[in-house]
Amino acid sequence: MTRRNTPQTLIRRLAFPDSVSRAVVTPIQQSVVYASPSPDMLDAQYEGREAGYTYAREGHPNADVLAAKIDMLEGGTGGIVTGSGMAAVTAALMGLLKAGDHVIGGDQLYGRSLRMMREDLPRFGIETSLTDPTDAAAIEAAIRPETKMILVEVVSNPTLRVADMAAIAKIAKRHGVWLAVDNTFTTPRAYRPFDHGADIVIHSVTKLLAGHSDVTLGYVVARDPELTQAMRVFAVTTGLTPSPNECWLAERGLFTFDLRFDRAQANAAALADFLAEQPGVARVLYPGRSDHPDHARAKALLGGNFGNMVSFEIEGGRAQTNALVEAMPEVAFAPTLGDVGTTLSHPATSSHRVMTPEQRAELGMSEGFFRISVGIEEIEILKADFGAGCAAAAAV
Ligand SMILES: *Cc1c(COP(=O)(O)O)cnc(C)c1O
Repeated sequence: MTRRNTPQTLIRRLAFPDSVSRAVVTPIQQSVVYASPSPDMLDAQYEGREAGYTYAREGHPNADVLAAKIDMLEGGTGGIVTGSGMAAVTAALMGLLKAGDHVIGGDQLYGRSLRMMREDLPRFGIETSLTDPTDAAAIEAAIRPETKMILVEVVSNPTLRVADMAAIAKIAKRHGVWLAVDNTFTTPRAYRPFDHGADIVIHSVTKLLAGHSDVTLGYVVARDPELTQAMRVFAVTTGLTPSPNECWLAERGLFTFDLRFDRAQANAAALADFLAEQPGVARVLYPGRSDHPDHARAKALLGGNFGNMVSFEIEGGRAQTNALVEAMPEVAFAPTLGDVGTTLSHPATSSHRVMTPEQRAELGMSEGFFRISVGIEEIEILKADFGAGCAAAAAV
């Protein structure tokens, strides 16, 4: 029979044409499955004697390229890229803990991490306690014989309190408890958890590392390769693994991470000082300002990198907060962070809406409380926008 060559008859036979020159951009390897030359070779791949991919949920080149780059930033080895930041949190908590274990979390963890601690882990018999991470004595008091892990964020959302990391690392070591650090807000530019005694590092890559609000990805790695392997097996089994396309976009974002971080951080410092001078602004929270409650600790921990997040509080209630947001339509009113563009969020109607006003007040959040993720725009444009917003609120 003569072959009639069409794209259909050649399904799965076409390969990239050879080229003696190489692509300078990492190719996107979209294939879900990989064809092995023989059962012997497939056997060798599964046994780890030969390097080779088999099925994308188990691993693919774009995830490995991205993981290796974040490993370099964090000083980790063999890190795992996951389909979201929450998938990374899940891999750490559920991939390493078992029924009967106890875990201590910061009481201002990311909202979904809090929910997992409060609702989901207990359903599986994992006990949890939530404690203020600025108070190391309270963390130590929460430790039980069954405690296996402490999970904290260095800078809390949205009040930007700074955890007592040095004391917490000592406590974790003294009690033989894993210290897991969600480093999303601080990023390795400001804080490298492994340099300060952490056992596990977690990221929402979605935020500053990828930086363009066009991918949802996470990353997790442990200092001990056996723990990383346990998390990897759990992530593969439960399908927490990422798509090639998203990994490729995040890799592209990473090329400019340092530049974006520096610019956004400089903008944040300038904007924080500007806001403090505006009418109707009751309070500005930025760890780099000397009036921040944890300024001294932030200085000691973060090497002068106070980050791109600024929170502030205006006088008044919902009428004033509506007026502020409506007067600055150029700034995206959206509850995310780490985007190249500045975003503004209002915890009372978004991230912290399930809390009562009293519970929010306890954390220092009134109706007039806003959080800014400062981007890389011209600072004069940001000042003009926020100046207009504050003036509109003050005029209500
Ligand atoms: C956003 C975020 C997460 C969750 O990440 P996703 O990529 O949205 O799943 C976890 N921790 C922190 C601190 C975050 O800001």
